[in-house]
Amino acid sequence: MQSLRELYRIGMGPSSSHTMAPRRAAQYFLDHNQKAAAYRVTLYGSLAATGKGHFTDQAVMEVFGTDKTRIVWLKDTVLPYHANAMKFEALDAKENTLAQWTTYSVGGGALQDEGEAPAQEVYAFKNFTEIVDWATSQGRPLWTAAVESEGEEIMSYLATVWNQMQACVRRGLEHEDVLPGGLRLARKAYSFYKKALAQRPDLSRTGLLSAYALAVSEENAGRGIVVTAPTCGSCGVVAGVLYYLKYHRNVTDREIINALATAGLVGNTVKQNGSISGAEVGCQGEIGVACAMAAAAVAQLFGGTVSQIEYAAEIGLEHFLGLTCDPVMGLVQIPCIERNAIAANRAVAAAEYALYTDGQHRVSFDDVVKAMRQTGHDLPPLYKETAEGGLATLYK
Ligand code: SF4
Repeated sequence: MQSLRELYRIGMGPSSSHTMAPRRAAQYFLDHNQKAAAYRVTLYGSLAATGKGHFTDQAVMEVFGTDKTRIVWLKDTVLPYHANAMKFEALDAKENTLAQWTTYSVGGGALQDEGEAPAQEVYAFKNFTEIVDWATSQGRPLWTAAVESEGEEIMSYLATVWNQMQACVRRGLEHEDVLPGGLRLARKAYSFYKKALAQRPDLSRTGLLSAYALAVSEENAGRGIVVTAPTCGSCGVVAGVLYYLKYHRNVTDREIINALATAGLVGNTVKQNGSISGAEVGCQGEIGVACAMAAAAVAQLFGGTVSQIEYAAEIGLEHFLGLTCDPVMGLVQIPCIERNAIAANRAVAAAEYALYTDGQHRVSFDDVVKAMRQTGHDLPPLYKETAEGGLATLYK
């Protein structure tokens, strides 16, 4: 497993795979080819199918300059290595290619070249069972597996992540307007927040959780700065749930940072043994994983045992198995934003369910990850971030 720094990335939305990673790739290519007269960027497969709605073209044009960038969209050409492929070419004044680079956006904002080894692994654990066994045998909390593997510095990084998440919720609650893109979708976080505050405190939980998750997801859709958890499209779930716990359940920042470590171990396990790429496994890999991460965090913050925390994560993902990715107009708005709010509520419910039990359960989190990977593999491509099936075709 790689560092949690590779999972929790701070950057501009609305899509870790379609915006964050292409922007970084473009910057890298520009840094190495500064003297070109123009740049041609060819987007393949799912990156091309939903690239307009996900603002991939804008992200790379902002790096190379609008007048110097040509975008070629090849949605029907899927390169064998991964569905999200892009080729950068540096051109001279006569459009001759001076240099070129093909790379892949493999999920959660990560880039990988064909045949290149993934980022360095810093965890000796191969799956969640090994983490649970280590914590149980050592008598230590789950989250300490992150410190054990990455050193104390990782907690400072998680503190930065938490600050970014909180700032994002606050910005999202302040903004009231229509989101960019052709849907003219109005932001809802502010009105949810106001209505929730007007409720009796014991009835306000759904509204507040939804408001905070919406705030972050709407910031993401508005191209604001977010933290991938595990992706941009699903970034409202963990942030929204933790914000709710801090301000309505008296949880401290230190406890939340520890819970972010545990949530990160959950997300890392899926990254290692399944996928967090909507283009590869559909939305179960984004919203489903975010729900599992948040559920584990909540279970820990409510005092759960190691097995109850693992159970909460298992429930969080299991009931999103098979969830398709079918974004209307290719935008990260419908159904994505609402899904974040629903998953935030479900994460708390999953944690509570696990805490009502003694933690014993038949299906392990690792088994659900395996099922998710197989289900994602079996899903037809039209339900994997191509905007060619489901809601994306029905909504007019
Ligand atoms: S439907 Fe899910 S996987 Fe697809 S773009 Fe939206 S959040 Fe991402």
